[in-house]
Amino acid sequence: MGDGGSFAPPIPQEFPPLPLRDSRGRESQLEQGEGQGVGVREATAHFRNLLRPCRWKENLERTALTFNLQHFSTEDGPGIRTTVFLKGCLLKCAWCHNPEGLSAYPDLVWHDVRCVGARECLRACAQGALSLTAQGMRIDRDRCDLCGACAEACPSGALEIIGRGWTARELLGELIKDQVFYETSGGGITFSGGEPMMQAVFLAEALPMCKEVGLHVALDTCGAVPWEWLERVLLSVDLVLLDLKLIDPIQHETATGLPNDGILENARRMARLGTAMWIRTPVIPGYTADPANLRQIGAFIAEELPTVDRWDLLAYTNLGKPKYHRLDRPYLLEEVPLMPREEMEGLWREAVKLVPVAKWSGATR
Ligand code: SF4
Ligand code: SF4
Repeated sequence: MGDGGSFAPPIPQEFPPLPLRDSRGRESQLEQGEGQGVGVREATAHFRNLLRPCRWKENLERTALTFNLQHFSTEDGPGIRTTVFLKGCLLKCAWCHNPEGLSAYPDLVWHDVRCVGARECLRACAQGALSLTAQGMRIDRDRCDLCGACAEACPSGALEIIGRGWTARELLGELIKDQVFYETSGGGITFSGGEPMMQAVFLAEALPMCKEVGLHVALDTCGAVPWEWLERVLLSVDLVLLDLKLIDPIQHETATGLPNDGILENARRMARLGTAMWIRTPVIPGYTADPANLRQIGAFIAEELPTVDRWDLLAYTNLGKPKYHRLDRPYLLEEVPLMPREEMEGLWREAVKLVPVAKWSGATR
């Protein structure tokens, strides 16, 4: 690894649309679209200013914010990998099973099973944001400034701040600890989220560092980002895991909050550039688990994306449900059951006719 001076990050000229929610679920003060085209430094300053003064404000200036580092992952690309989950996403898919990745800010959560009722947290909170009721801990998220004092005071780890800041160098130091496993299994690092491209400035610094020490790098993206950003980052990416959820633009906007024309165009451009891709399609009852939708995605891959090595149909999982409750976010799929196995297999049999490298995985009933 060279010295820090050799990793001057290429700064993208444009910043993607700003997140429309802050950590408390409030709407951004920017009008929709107003964030488009602002310089990256102004946009970063805007992120920081949305936060009330707290220790995170310093960190966001120079670090990535992650919500998980998953070691020995085998689901996010070839071989054994470490998956780095970065916070912040521009979409708001109803089925998202990582809701702690939606906000670009830290989140405070309370784990009921860990709470021993010690009440140390109530005494530690200078904002009076906590109350322990018969129904459990209530967090007044308008008062909470994410100082973390309650989490530090809690003797049983029941309160937790989700979100850890890393410099690129610190993160690389952590990632290379498992290098022997990557090398023996053909694995590497996957940057995921949330939407990792929400922290594109960090990626533009961290990914060349990963490549410099010989790591295989995958980028797991929803593709809803400006091409100019992707293009910069792709120079240091070996494999893109691209989500294609719905082909119909209206259905896509209804389900995720954004239209998909830019996503499809980015997919075509990556194919023209020769970027190796795995396409991932979450198969969600009532949203994407529609034979016509899967046929359209399959036809798009077969006709326009010759660099796709694999198409993963990912059966709906409800594992995210308790996380929504901990974040005080509504979960729209509360009553939706897992897919029947026969239905998943039927969808896969049709998919594989169009795209022979189609596979399916996930929980079924
Ligand atoms: S993080 Fe905890 S201690 Fe700090 S303001 Fe929020 S609830 Fe209070
Ligand atoms: S793109 Fe992924 S992370 Fe973002 S909301 Fe959709 S499922 Fe969640």
